[in-house]
Amino acid sequence: MTIDTVPAVLHPGTTWKNWSRIESVRPVFNARPSSVGEVVEIVRFARARGLMVKTVGAGHSFTAIAAAPGIQLDVSALDGLLDVDAARGRVTLGAGTNLHQLPAILGPLGLALENMGDIDRQTIAGATSTGTHGTGARFRGLATQIVAITLVTADAAVLQISETENAELLPAARLGLGALGVLVDLTLQCVPAFLLDAVERPAGLEEVLDGFDERATSVDHFEFYWWPHTDGVMTKSNSRLPGDAERRPIGALSGWFEDRVVSNTVLAMICNIGRIAPATTPAINRFATRVYGNRSYRDHSHEVFASPRTTRFREMEYAIPRQSVPDALRDIRRLIDARGWRISFPVEVRVAAADDNWLSTAQGRETGYIAVHRYFRDDHDEYFRGVEQVLRAYRGRPHWGKIHYQDAASLAELYPHHGDFVAARNRLDPERRFTNPYLDRVLGA
Ligand SMILES: Cc1cc2nc3c(=O)[nH]c(=O)nc-3n(C[C@H](O)[C@H](O)[C@H](O)COP(=O)(O)OP(=O)(O)OC[C@H]3O[C@@H](n4cnc5c(N)ncnc54)[C@H](O)[C@@H]3O)c2cc1C
Repeated sequence: MTIDTVPAVLHPGTTWKNWSRIESVRPVFNARPSSVGEVVEIVRFARARGLMVKTVGAGHSFTAIAAAPGIQLDVSALDGLLDVDAARGRVTLGAGTNLHQLPAILGPLGLALENMGDIDRQTIAGATSTGTHGTGARFRGLATQIVAITLVTADAAVLQISETENAELLPAARLGLGALGVLVDLTLQCVPAFLLDAVERPAGLEEVLDGFDERATSVDHFEFYWWPHTDGVMTKSNSRLPGDAERRPIGALSGWFEDRVVSNTVLAMICNIGRIAPATTPAINRFATRVYGNRSYRDHSHEVFASPRTTRFREMEYAIPRQSVPDALRDIRRLIDARGWRISFPVEVRVAAADDNWLSTAQGRETGYIAVHRYFRDDHDEYFRGVEQVLRAYRGRPHWGKIHYQDAASLAELYPHHGDFVAARNRLDPERRFTNPYLDRVLGA
């Protein structure tokens, strides 16, 4: 290939927008490779032309982490099941596999993901590369389940990283922000399929904060949503049951009604009324605490963990030491009251176990997550900056796929292994073939 020959897999770039519609870019080229060989060819071409390559997953990050000004590489054709190690409960998946494809892949094998976040639209590579997590004091983020990775590196080589090959790179590559190369496949440690017994109940904010640690640790998966301007929260407590336990699904109609009509349509309505008449927000939020969350059901884990999100929003999420959650949330409440903001979207609180991926928000500490949201038509900036100041006082670490205002210098103080990650990046991508402005900001140029 000469420098003038554009590989057939590259096409003139078209404008891309992320899910929350806050980031957009028009790449020079778009590419949707259907083989590892084509990925290698694209990286070779990019080197020859001095172009940057950025892989995009499902575009569900709220930040510009996936924005590709040079070559936008979409790995959605590299999807599906590639290999199974039934004895160890491990599967090798194409990097572009969406989480919602997994039940059909893992179900027949009697397997499931150990934990999930609250949606299943992401790709497995995008979700793990940004540290996507669910909730559960004994459970770690999705990236901790990766046991092997195949990466196309900046020198267009295909590198295996696993417990037995280049193992020193695993803590960086499992949660690599897309900065180390193109993940073409990854192998996940799964668990035997299980059911979740789900209990959703309203409760008082102070009561939940006072007993937070007990609630967070006494059930497998605990989380709650607090409606600003109210004293009420909706709690969700999910307990794990064996895969052959009796299912008690919510039923197609009532599930559809609750998730799509109540959760999404009512939420959109609340947000729109709040925009037109901000003074009504506290009363509307009090109404919301009454219509949301008072049900019990029992179903396959993926049915309980993930639900549809049709109301677009923007989000910032910070990881802080778990024991600091009650104080931090009370601080946020005081801030909202003091500044007179009218916030129509709930604040979400989750927990996770400590892990050892270098850039994990839960690296080395038992973690509580506090996430703030704003409707996508509302201005999020002042609210998010204010809450960020509160959470930075608790040595908060921002989710890599969600809005924040920190840079490499401040993040290096929060992550003991930030320097180790940058060293791995220097080794694998010294010319910064896989960078973009977001990565320059959080890792350094
Ligand atoms: C409605 C909604 C709900 C959400 N819920 C949760 C939640 O419950 N918990 C949570 O933690 N997060 C949550 N998120 C955030 C989301 O999980 C992450 O932002 C995730 O990265 C999105 O995955 P994606 O496939 O869209 O990746 P993208 O946003 O497209 O990409 C993210 C990063 O991954 C890199 N990447 C993607 N594919 C590859 C590859 N093959 N090789 C190398 N790098 C790659 C990209 O370059 C980029 O750096 C939510 C987001 C939304 C919009």
